[in-house]
Amino acid sequence: MVATSDTRERGVIRKSATGRLRVALVYPHSYHVGMSNLGFQTVYRLVNSIDHLVCERAFLPVQDGGKSPRVRTVESQTPIEDFDVIAFSISYENDAPAVLTILETAGLPLSAAQRGATLPLVLAGGVFCFLNPEPLAPFIDAFLLGEAEALIPRFFEVFDPAAPKTALLLNLAREVPGLYVPAFFQPAYHADGTLAAAEPVADVPATVKRVMVADLSNLPTATTILTPDTTFEDTYLIEVSRGCPHGCRFCSAGYVYRPPRFRPLALLDRQVDEGAALTDRIGLVGAAVSDLPCVRELCGRERGKAIHFAFSSLRADALDEPLIEALRQGRVKTATIAPDAGSERMRRVINKGVTEAHVLAATETLVAAGIPNLKVYFMVGLPTETDADVAAIVELVKRVKHVFLKTSRGKGRMGEITVSLSSFVPKPFTPFQWAAMDTVKQLKGKIKTVQNGLRKTANVRVYADLPRWAYVQGLIARGDRRVADILLLAHHYQGNWPQTFKASPVNPHFYVHRERGPEERFPWEFIDQGIDRAYLWKEHQRALVARPSAPCPADPAHCSLCGVCKGKAGAM
Ligand code: SF4
Repeated sequence: MVATSDTRERGVIRKSATGRLRVALVYPHSYHVGMSNLGFQTVYRLVNSIDHLVCERAFLPVQDGGKSPRVRTVESQTPIEDFDVIAFSISYENDAPAVLTILETAGLPLSAAQRGATLPLVLAGGVFCFLNPEPLAPFIDAFLLGEAEALIPRFFEVFDPAAPKTALLLNLAREVPGLYVPAFFQPAYHADGTLAAAEPVADVPATVKRVMVADLSNLPTATTILTPDTTFEDTYLIEVSRGCPHGCRFCSAGYVYRPPRFRPLALLDRQVDEGAALTDRIGLVGAAVSDLPCVRELCGRERGKAIHFAFSSLRADALDEPLIEALRQGRVKTATIAPDAGSERMRRVINKGVTEAHVLAATETLVAAGIPNLKVYFMVGLPTETDADVAAIVELVKRVKHVFLKTSRGKGRMGEITVSLSSFVPKPFTPFQWAAMDTVKQLKGKIKTVQNGLRKTANVRVYADLPRWAYVQGLIARGDRRVADILLLAHHYQGNWPQTFKASPVNPHFYVHRERGPEERFPWEFIDQGIDRAYLWKEHQRALVARPSAPCPADPAHCSLCGVCKGKAGAM
């Protein structure tokens, strides 16, 4: 059974498969989660836009009495093993284990080395892959590292379905920028378990440049299929930008999507009109939508009908009257503020660039504009964090509550403040890639401190993620190929992680809780993101003494700070 109500979808692309190469695009999570992902929808449209290809979607099937039913595509109900190519789109570390479930359910050997030429080629792409694909290396034939639009057309230009598998992969690795074939690389380890080398064992480049789109001005990205079975229901999503100029030190997207790129007003205007023909709800998506130079103009345009705008992210220091008006018009019920840390010191450590004054002013502005509910995001477990920093989360929320209460008075209805707490997980290609992660016990203690501190505060609810899942995320995020063995065990024990860790000869704490030395070679460093390692290390050092750094300049033409704009690594 496929978890979807196909008939409720608008915008499904139906192409005849006859004479075409068939691609099963698989999201390793539920239909609901996958269809809420704009990147997944973009790849679906992109592959179908290539004449000799037909692309159908598939998702992790709903368990049926403990057994996973066959994975079939939404469009034609064809089992994915009958396709020429199975392409996974992976955004998050915690979705990686489901790749094994799906391969097994499809009756395919898990190991790429055991899949012969008659079986579909198994690909994977998505931001998870270009951060660190190594924990999935043994299971995938080839990874596409970078942005889909810059990778997929060239891949299918070179892809020859009639070629023998090894020759095909060799040709792809040489001819397609951003293509990584794990079988062509062999890692070696020092006696202490750290990585010594990851050398190519075939005639392929020793590093793989991730490939990005240099210019987004002619590249619209928006919802392809509207379906009520997603988080966004009838909202037409438009991606307004990629990358983010602020350089928050915990945020991998802020580094690997550099440089920040914004779409022009003319293109976005057309997209809003296209969306408005389908629905009156438009969602603007980007790492920091308030940084988009034309956002106020875009939302303020007269369009002959009321459009309700929603924003994936707004910075607390960027809320001005035109944006507030757009929120008001959008009948937004809940606005989100992300201070990410409670104390000023901690926000300097993470380079958040947002002060308490910004947070309180944003609260006042939002509530005064009639938005009844607030969601406030924080992390616990950040590098250098002390008890005082955790206690500062409680204090800041109480001050937010005070402003919230004062401004709400006389409005008739008192809304709610939701505090969302997540556990910090160090990520590759960020200044915190060297950092140790807190233990599950420490994280639980910090979450408890915040929960207890706010227990008696009326109208404030605290939601926290589960530190044990953050631990698994931390393991996969910075794992090497030996973590693949842990994933195999987890698959064997059907996702029972405590049993997996007990049985594993590989120590997961080695990857999660160990602080790395400045010279340690990382498993993900065969990928060239264009960012200088020395720059990341300098940012790491500045973080430790709570020194903030400036964001990317508005005109990056002459900036060489992190190396990306200087080298324009792999730009299309
Ligand atoms: S080189 Fe400068 S502008 Fe370009 S991404 Fe790096 S810091 Fe930002």
